[in-house]
Amino acid sequence: MDAPDPTNLPLERKAALLSGQDFWSTAPIDDAGLPSVVLTDGPHGVRRQQADFEQIGLMESLPATCFPPAVAVGSSWDPEIAERIGAAIGREARALGVPVVLGPGVNMKRSPLCGRNFEYYAEDPLLAGVLGSAHVRGQQGEGVGASVKHFAANNQETQRMQVSADVDERTLREIYLPAFERVVTEARPATVMCAYNRINGVYASQHRWLLTEVLRDEWGFDGAVISDWGAVQDRVAALEAGLDLQMPGDHGTGNQLVVDAVKAGELDESLVDRSVRRVAALAELGGEPTDGFDVDAHHALARELAAGCAVLLKNDGGTLPLAPDAHVAVVGEFARTPRYQGGGSSHVNATRVDDALGALGGLLDGPVAFAPGFPLDGSGDAAALREAAVAVARDADVTVVFAGLADGDESEGFDRTTLDLPAAQVELIRAVAAVSRRTVVVLSSGGVVSLEGWHDDVDAIMAGFLLGQAGGSALADLLVGRANPSGRLAETIPLRLEDTPSHLNFPGEQGTVRYGEGVMVGYRHYVTVDRPVRYPFGHGLSYTTVETSDLRVAPTGDDTATVSLTVTNTGDRAGRHVVQVYVATAAGPVRRPGRELRAFAKVELQPGESRAVSFELGRRAFAYWDVREHGWVVAPGEYAVQIGRSAADVVAEATVTLAGDDVVPELTLGSSVAEWFEHPVVGAQLLEGFLATMPEGAGEMHAGMLQMVGSMPMGRFATDFGSAIPSAELERLMAAARAARGVTPPAGSSTTR
Ligand code: BGC
Repeated sequence: MDAPDPTNLPLERKAALLSGQDFWSTAPIDDAGLPSVVLTDGPHGVRRQQADFEQIGLMESLPATCFPPAVAVGSSWDPEIAERIGAAIGREARALGVPVVLGPGVNMKRSPLCGRNFEYYAEDPLLAGVLGSAHVRGQQGEGVGASVKHFAANNQETQRMQVSADVDERTLREIYLPAFERVVTEARPATVMCAYNRINGVYASQHRWLLTEVLRDEWGFDGAVISDWGAVQDRVAALEAGLDLQMPGDHGTGNQLVVDAVKAGELDESLVDRSVRRVAALAELGGEPTDGFDVDAHHALARELAAGCAVLLKNDGGTLPLAPDAHVAVVGEFARTPRYQGGGSSHVNATRVDDALGALGGLLDGPVAFAPGFPLDGSGDAAALREAAVAVARDADVTVVFAGLADGDESEGFDRTTLDLPAAQVELIRAVAAVSRRTVVVLSSGGVVSLEGWHDDVDAIMAGFLLGQAGGSALADLLVGRANPSGRLAETIPLRLEDTPSHLNFPGEQGTVRYGEGVMVGYRHYVTVDRPVRYPFGHGLSYTTVETSDLRVAPTGDDTATVSLTVTNTGDRAGRHVVQVYVATAAGPVRRPGRELRAFAKVELQPGESRAVSFELGRRAFAYWDVREHGWVVAPGEYAVQIGRSAADVVAEATVTLAGDDVVPELTLGSSVAEWFEHPVVGAQLLEGFLATMPEGAGEMHAGMLQMVGSMPMGRFATDFGSAIPSAELERLMAAARAARGVTPPAGSSTTR
């Protein structure tokens, strides 16, 4: 017999389903056959609390594999890595009795200072969306629900529970929403987690436009919207806006408000039923708990995948890989005390942790000398530690310095205020580089750090970011060449913090953060204003070399194109190469970024191997968000399709001309004279009628005259300038323009690709 429909229960009973019974689970409704559902973090490993769900208990979770966090996965540019991590998390969640795991996070890295950038993939929405989608696919493929978060415009930790992100419509649509849109439309996550912050003044948790009009009506989301932990301000307003489950529970206070509102006739009970159905559906997730997971296999997987994430930034003179018989010194506390994940809600109690020092020792022929070089917590005698490290480096062929940020330097909950490495580490790197024959720096940090002040002193730099519990061994694999680096930067490394596009507006003031840079986020800014950076988005070296040839681009319709090219491994090692496809255009009435990533693929190439790669560029690859049409528009014109080694290094380019959309703009009396005369449907008629009223010869003057009055509203022009155009005529032309809009295909809905 089917379980009774929970919406048939008395109001109080069903309202109980609308908030957690504690920190980490929903309330069971026995008479509707609904078990309690556990929802817990997180994005790169399961953090299932041991027992007491009445506590937040961040550091007391059951052992689980800590996979590479999103900052690393972002740098992999590899959806297969994201999917395999998602699937492995799904398997562990099944074993740990967790039907919903709270990840992935797909917010944009608007500023490199955001304390939670380690939990996010990229400064580009396509990259974040593709990886997030793959993660959800993997996790949900194991029967475990995902929660894509934090919806939306949650791009800083400063005042994260109050701040209003003031973002214009085009910027939201082009930068801050598309990663969510892709995950929702492609991978259909079981839940979406709303953000803490406000967006243009309205809390995300009660933002009807966001949670219902965009998420459900446009994107077709049919799962449950859950609150970030503690994000609900007004329970009834949140429910009406489309938020289904309040987390964590507040001992029934919110539910009672819902009940009271229904009884007072202020809230339609059908809205309660709608959310009850969505929360009840979560009970179908997770399946039967399995009998544990393969700890060793998952650790090995974490090691393999981590090696695909690290980014080799610099490698002068082939310093890397290390020769097996090289006399290697290792310096830096992070080599034996790895920094492999970030602090806060995503913290995983790892099943084991590999350190690079131990792993390198096992891979090199000779002994590895070690000195810690600097104190991790900033205390202790930095000068003495540095001197001891310099002594070790002096005798080495190569010194590998493990530098980075400590747990206390960055975390969920606060933003950094500087990009600098701690001064003691900069001094150490410089002192080591001054005496060592070759110097390699390996960086561990959740957000990018400045390389200035020491970059030119060293021979090679590997950005490991945070690589998860097997990061130490993965780094060793990369350093000795057992693995070939294939990561690419998912965020720009700037020369100066002051160069970053959000700098003047981050993290805001007096409760508001203005997204004044608009769509010019990350590389979009640097490319558009041609500002030098230390390493651009998309940059990353390999131990092999790859050439690009035969680029061909052809339109496949008015607003789509196909791209094909060949990539050849011209070196002597197998490697994975990221093909990056950018589109650049000046078409349309809005300022476009210098170029934008529109497709990418990671391809494996054996030495000497060539492979043909092709992409279908859909309409969205060429579109901008038109605030007048409230839709995506592909402007007629020329589009350069560029293959980049990074966002700053184009290696091949071909141009395609697209017919684009036939947009017929609306005309009102407030539209400018120029808009009237240039209107594709009525402009010519208007001009003809207008000239007919003018004296002989005045026609030649009209161009100059139009320029002068072009920005004047037509209503004013028509009345103030001798009533040259009768108002009935204007009405007729406005109607004609409206009629033409009606028969013209709309500018495109936001889900059109
Ligand atoms: C975080 C979420 C997390 C939740 C539960 C919040 O503070 O913002 O990402 O899933 O806590 O731990």
